[in-house]
Amino acid sequence: MLIDASMTHRVAIVGAGPSGFYAADGLLRTRPDLRIDLIDRLPTPFGLVRAGVAPDHQGTKAVVRQFERLLTQPDVRFAGNVEIGRDLSWGELQAGYDAVIVATGMVIDRKLGVPGEDLPFVWGSWKFVAWLNGHPDFRQGPDLSAVRKVGVIGNGNVALDVARVLAKSPEEMGKSDIVPEAGEAIAAAPLTDICIIGRRGPEQASFTGNELAEMGRLSRAVAVADPAALAVEAPTGDPTPERLRKAKNLEILRGFSKNVPGSKPITVHFVFNRPITRIEPGEFDLVLTCIGYEGVELPKGEGIFPVGWAKRGPTGTIPTNRGDSHAVAQQVIAWLKDRDLKSGPDPLPLSVDADGWRRIDKAEVASGARIGRPRVKLTDWKVLLDTAEG
Ligand code: NAP
Repeated sequence: MLIDASMTHRVAIVGAGPSGFYAADGLLRTRPDLRIDLIDRLPTPFGLVRAGVAPDHQGTKAVVRQFERLLTQPDVRFAGNVEIGRDLSWGELQAGYDAVIVATGMVIDRKLGVPGEDLPFVWGSWKFVAWLNGHPDFRQGPDLSAVRKVGVIGNGNVALDVARVLAKSPEEMGKSDIVPEAGEAIAAAPLTDICIIGRRGPEQASFTGNELAEMGRLSRAVAVADPAALAVEAPTGDPTPERLRKAKNLEILRGFSKNVPGSKPITVHFVFNRPITRIEPGEFDLVLTCIGYEGVELPKGEGIFPVGWAKRGPTGTIPTNRGDSHAVAQQVIAWLKDRDLKSGPDPLPLSVDADGWRRIDKAEVASGARIGRPRVKLTDWKVLLDTAEG
């Protein structure tokens, strides 16, 4: 059946990260006739998969292949380098589209709220990981040339990500897409100790088992924990999956407690029950806070549907967002039912489209191939835009 594109609803999805793509997928599964615009302020799609997932976790990044397939659908447009508030207002979006899905995630580091937090050697994980991942707004990383001791605050998977990337050898990072300057800075840093610091006990850590176990398999780093802190059990009142996850964490950490500090060039210390009340120069050369994220104030109103982290807050893995986005897609479809079509000109400003992104992708993959890596990211706004234009 041929569909007349002017005779169907138009949906804008603001934020071309995993939640945005999963929302598009959910919409098209029920309403393949819809016209969908995936709008992003960056000239590149995939949001957190490109800028947040650790560069050595290429398996996790492989999810983008599903998203790429969506971009080949004739009525799905990618619109990169379009910033809401600069190129288009929320009001214009609402006027031009039959529904607006907000998938903007959370991209501001949560603050500890303690004295010393603004010292120059304290970095939020978003900024730090964005640097590792070549985000064009975060091209300058911390000076690592004299960094021996690192404090990583938080007991979630992001804390493990940053500790692991610092602890891995250049060989272990060889198949990653870490930006070369970050990889070189880490390789040259005189690192000896990385302390992963939890404010509560090990039975409350939000690590997941695979990610925690990986810390025990690093070639130039040994993971250690104080056995005294591990004389606890997973909370019996927790739902079974949580209790099992925590019990597994404790088992892995007990394994780490048998390791010998200093037996490899870098020691990764798991430190528990240490709330942070202030940060002072001296103890660590670099502090990375990995304590969650915040979002910006989002528009509310009829026909606006938040999804993903923008809706639920900064928790959940990429697959968690699939079910959530599909559920929101069903709400959008219910909202569109019997709703008159909006008429009017195409509301989308000129942007980096899917072909523009493919030119960036091709250039990055070609540079990566020259040095045996998945890609070398373009990190300069002008170069990104010029490459997209071809
Ligand atoms: P998270 O899992 O919520 O962990 C945040 C950590 O910060 C918690 O340990 C929390 O401790 C701690 N924290 C919060 N405020 C603090 C404070 N004021 N002082 C000290 N510690 C504080 O969040 P995340 O690590 O940012 O990860 C976000 C989501 O992405 C999670 O769902 C995570 O699983 C997911 N993720 C997954 C992967 C992966 O699958 N490989 C990788 C990265 C991220 P309390 O528990 O005491 O509050």
